[in-house]
Amino acid sequence: MSFTMHGVAVSGGIAIGHAHLVSHALLEVAHYHVPDHLLDAEVKRFADAVKAVQKDLENIRASLPTSAPAELGSFVGTHIMFLGDNSLSEVPKRIIREEHCNAEWALKQQMDDLVAQFDEIEDDYLRERKFDVVQVVERVIKVLLGHPGQAPLEKQESGMILVAHDLSPADAIQFKQHQFAAFITDVGGATSHTAILARSLNIPSIVALHHARDLIHDGELIIVDGNLGVVIVSPDKDTLTEYRLKQEGFELEQQKLKRLKLTKPVTLDGTQVELHANIEIPEDVAQAKAAGATGIGLYRTEFLFMNRREWPDEEEQFEAYRKVAETMKGMPVTIRTMDLGADKQVDPDAARTCTNPALGLRAIRLCLAEPAVFHAQLRAILRASHYGRIKILIPMLSTLSELRQTMHLLERAKRSLREQNIPFDDAIPVGGMIEIPAAALKAEAFARELDFLSIGTNDLIQYTLAIDRTDDTVAHLYQPLHPAVLQLVEMTIRAGDKTGTPVSVCGEMAGDSRLTRLLLGFGLRQFSMHPAHILAVKHQILQSDLPKLVSGARKILASSEIDRIEPLLHKLNN
Ligand code: PEP
Ligand code: MG
Repeated sequence: MSFTMHGVAVSGGIAIGHAHLVSHALLEVAHYHVPDHLLDAEVKRFADAVKAVQKDLENIRASLPTSAPAELGSFVGTHIMFLGDNSLSEVPKRIIREEHCNAEWALKQQMDDLVAQFDEIEDDYLRERKFDVVQVVERVIKVLLGHPGQAPLEKQESGMILVAHDLSPADAIQFKQHQFAAFITDVGGATSHTAILARSLNIPSIVALHHARDLIHDGELIIVDGNLGVVIVSPDKDTLTEYRLKQEGFELEQQKLKRLKLTKPVTLDGTQVELHANIEIPEDVAQAKAAGATGIGLYRTEFLFMNRREWPDEEEQFEAYRKVAETMKGMPVTIRTMDLGADKQVDPDAARTCTNPALGLRAIRLCLAEPAVFHAQLRAILRASHYGRIKILIPMLSTLSELRQTMHLLERAKRSLREQNIPFDDAIPVGGMIEIPAAALKAEAFARELDFLSIGTNDLIQYTLAIDRTDDTVAHLYQPLHPAVLQLVEMTIRAGDKTGTPVSVCGEMAGDSRLTRLLLGFGLRQFSMHPAHILAVKHQILQSDLPKLVSGARKILASSEIDRIEPLLHKLNN
């Protein structure tokens, strides 16, 4: 039976394909009695599942792409080793026979026991191995439950639609390796990092669908309308035809936009605008260049720190940054120092123990609290600056003293390189993210001490409106057009103008072509966004006449009600 679900649209486009459910296998384990005469068969079912997973893991290890993070190979190796150990491959057989229970239950019992033993270990690194045990058990349970092949590392058939209850940014970055046609989840806000990553995959995505994972079956045909935030499950023939036509129309539009790749983003009155790209991993540079970006306005380096047990050392970071700098061939590359914490946790346990992670020890606060880790990153960025045009961007600044401490540490990193005669760009520009209302209110003071500012509207909206950007229950209150948000954005652009400091917007607002003219009217001349949006924004710029925009933008700024702003924005755009 066909039915429709509504969620929060994250990334546009239309996809038609078969559902691929990311399983929460461990939550689904049933417990049932196995009679004597079926015990042998149950033990065999278990042994076959273990064998199947062993084979899968070997295949994965053999087919890992060269671009995969170096540690993935060793994770897979660890999983193979655990699965080969008697505690996982033999003990559950004994439990099945002794307790007359089903294989899934026996394995889960054994896993709980092992996890409890790991929890007793003092050494952090060894204790963390419990996650490997859980992951490998989950794989076996999926095979036992009859829906194998859902682990993120495995190769997927293209054209599949990924359906998950939730995905951490760490999961989502792994999905970058696969060719899914669309991406839908039960929870999450439109600017959660998972959503941002989904958007960077450049495929239709919807979050906050609430029950997609429960209501959609594996393999079911679904339509994802990423423009409207609508999912149609098991569509009838007419709906399917209608959506196939819509899909063709959308793809045609995209093709037309592609012709603008080499066109310079200049307004009708001749004002030059810069369109830069946001990237998460060095491999994203290809997409940025394909979209005609003339620089990287935001490189979110924290993704280098995810999906791994140990943080990357200076050398590994240096190689990643150098790769981006070299590939961009002299175009600016803005490397943001790691913005870990809140919804970009490396350790999910840390997020649970922190009452208010978004207000906690994250981003620059975390870096200042861990100077050795920060020192390695600063040295890596500085070293890479010898190979291209690198700028440093500091996230989450709230006070000038944080900025001064950072500059002090940067100076120390420079000094250490000088002492070793390692070359770097001594005049490397340093900018700050304006994403906390306090920083926006004091933007002029920050501008006087920095080479450039970059407005992070995702967090600026979150902190101005007190709306958790990851929480789907308040997603409807997350409003980029809130007058207070617009005022802070405009104030920051004005502060840059007054002090002669370049200002860009690198939050999601920069990539929303509905807001291009408004931001131009506020005086913005640099936008940084996901490559997928560059051409649509450029299209707007090419049709904009700045002198005509200014009064419309002022009217919007003067308005204190969103309801009035919407029609004014419509007028500005038409
Ligand atoms: C922002 O907050 O707008 C931003 C660009 O940074 P991030 O989304 O990575 O927090
Ligand atoms: Mg931010």
